[in-house]
Amino acid sequence: MAEIVFDKVAKDFGGGPVVRDVSLTIPEGEFCVFVGPSGCGKSTLLRMVAGLESITAGEIRIGGKRANDIPPAKRGAALVFQTYALFPHMTIAENLGFGLKIRGAAKAERDAKVLGVAKDLELDGLLERRPRELSGGQRQRVAIGRAMLRDPQVFLFDEPLSNLDAALRVHTRLRIAKLHQDTGRSMIYVTHDQVEAMTLADRIVLLNTGERTAREGSLAQIGTPLELYHHPRSLFVAGFIGAPR
Ligand code: ADP
Ligand code: MG
Repeated sequence: MAEIVFDKVAKDFGGGPVVRDVSLTIPEGEFCVFVGPSGCGKSTLLRMVAGLESITAGEIRIGGKRANDIPPAKRGAALVFQTYALFPHMTIAENLGFGLKIRGAAKAERDAKVLGVAKDLELDGLLERRPRELSGGQRQRVAIGRAMLRDPQVFLFDEPLSNLDAALRVHTRLRIAKLHQDTGRSMIYVTHDQVEAMTLADRIVLLNTGERTAREGSLAQIGTPLELYHHPRSLFVAGFIGAPR
């Protein structure tokens, strides 16, 4: 398991900074939720941890190692996307087993592990289907199962519930909470939804936004859900998550 450290991290795609001066330590095993309005840099932060974006300045360390020195596939970070990102031409079993296959696991071992996770996620009746034959909730469970089979140090979730209807959102949210309980792994979970943040987080990291102000993409406040709720440090925090006054 691994502590994740953001050390003065910044990101600029060329049009000005979208993440600035983010310093933060996520202890091993923490469920940390990044929350904030659309465009504040949540996905960019997550993608930098996963290695899908370069880091413009500062560094990210995973388990004490500079992320830049570790190829994305070896970072021990599994990212679950809002859009599931399944392989359309592969069956559910093949989608689930893909990571094990490229790591060279034998077929018997792969099949056993895939079946175990599929049962756990109530997908075992769907293994021979293709993604397009599944509902949104089922596809998202496949994406979660695929991440589980990588046995990562860190799970990264980017708005995993936003394409699901209300009932499925609750179900999937509980499933993710159970995954954290069962594995004890660090989680970084990105959302723009206050309820998800309040119910899932050990700690919430609220990012600033604002039409290209100097604070955009920086941290507004870090704390437990109750700290942010009862002691918001600014009107912005209070408006986003705090108790009405
Ligand atoms: P969030 O996930 O919080 O909604 P993002 O991290 O996706 O925000 O984006 C933060 C900012 O960076 C936005 O202004 C967005 O337009 C910009 N951005 C994101 N990805 C790129 C990219 N590949 N190229 C240029 N700008 C980008
Ligand atoms: Mg995003």
